[in-house]
Amino acid sequence: MIRIRNLVKQYGAHIVLNHIDLSLDKGVILGLLGPNGAGKTTLVSILNGLIDFQEGEIEIFGLPLNGELEAIRKRSSFIPQSLALYDNLTIMENLQFFAGIQKISGAALRHNIDYALTVNRLHSLREQKAATLSGGQKRRLNIAIGLLNNPELLYFDEPTAGIDPESRNAILKTVRSFRDDGKTVVYTSHYMPEIEKICDEVAIIDHGRIIRQGSLETMLQGEEGHSAVIELFQASKAQLDELASKHEGVAAIDAGTLMTTWCNARQMGTLLAALEGEDIAVKQIRYGTTTLESLFLRLTSGENSDA
Ligand code: ADP
Repeated sequence: MIRIRNLVKQYGAHIVLNHIDLSLDKGVILGLLGPNGAGKTTLVSILNGLIDFQEGEIEIFGLPLNGELEAIRKRSSFIPQSLALYDNLTIMENLQFFAGIQKISGAALRHNIDYALTVNRLHSLREQKAATLSGGQKRRLNIAIGLLNNPELLYFDEPTAGIDPESRNAILKTVRSFRDDGKTVVYTSHYMPEIEKICDEVAIIDHGRIIRQGSLETMLQGEEGHSAVIELFQASKAQLDELASKHEGVAAIDAGTLMTTWCNARQMGTLLAALEGEDIAVKQIRYGTTTLESLFLRLTSGENSDA
C-alpha cells in the first residue's frame, strides 16, 4: 500500500527526515509515534503531496508519488489536526460543500455522505450548524469531511489532541472501524496508550529516523524486564517532571506515575530516596512492565526530544 525508500527531507542544513524506509500493507493501522519535532507531520505531509522532498522514492497503491499524485489523492485522505469547516453551515451543508469541491455527485455523493455520517455518529445532528457543535463533534465532522471521497487510505494527524475522553473514545472506535471496512490507516500521535489500543503496527520515529518498526505485539515481546512503573500517592506533574529530569531514564507519565527505562535495585534505591526526600509516598512498584511507553522511553531517552 505504501512503500518508502531512502526518503530525505531537509530545510536548509536541517535534516528533518533522515533516510527513511517504511512499508505498510493494506488493511493495517500504523501508528506513527514520536516526540514533538520528530518529523511525523512532515512525513505525513510528504505522503499527501503537501510538501516536497529532496531524495528517495515513494509509492502508494503501487503508483509513484511523483507523477501520480492526483490519482493517489482520489483514493486517500488526510485529516489534519486543524479544523477545516464552516461554522455558519450545518453538518449536511458542510459535507455537500466539500463534496462539491471534489466534484463528487449522484449516487456516490449520497452513499459517501451516509457512510461519513454513520461512522461518525452524526446523523441525528446533521441539520445543526457547525458553530453549535462541541469540540469533539467538530472533530468528528472534520473526519466525516475526510471520508467524502470514500478513501482506501486515511492519514490522521493527532486527531484526539485536546478533546474530552468520551469524544476521544468515539474517535478511536471510528478509526478501528475503518480497518474492519478494509481501509488502511496511518495514525500519528505522541500519546502511547492510544496507539497501543488501536494500532496493529508501530513505527517509532525520532530525530527524523525510524528507530523501530513492526507489529505492536512483536515489539513489546522483546522488551520484557526493561522497565518499572512507580505509582505514587500525592504529587504534581511539575514536581515529578523536575524529579525525573535529575534521574537518568526516568520520566513522569502523569501526576501519579513515574516510569523508568531500567529495572535494577541500585537505581531504584536512589530514586526511592529522592521521592522520600520530596515527601512523595509510593503506592506500588510494578517491575518488568512491558508497555509501548517504556519501550518508547528507552529508545528515545537522552537529549533526543526537543519537546
Ligand atoms: P512532529 O510532527 O513529529 O512534531 P514535525 O514534522 O512537525 O514534527 O517537525 C519536524 C522538524 O522539522 C522540527 O524540528 C521542525 O522544527 C522542523 N520543521 C517543520 N516544518 C518546517 C519548516 N517549514 N521550515 C523549517 N523547519 C521545519
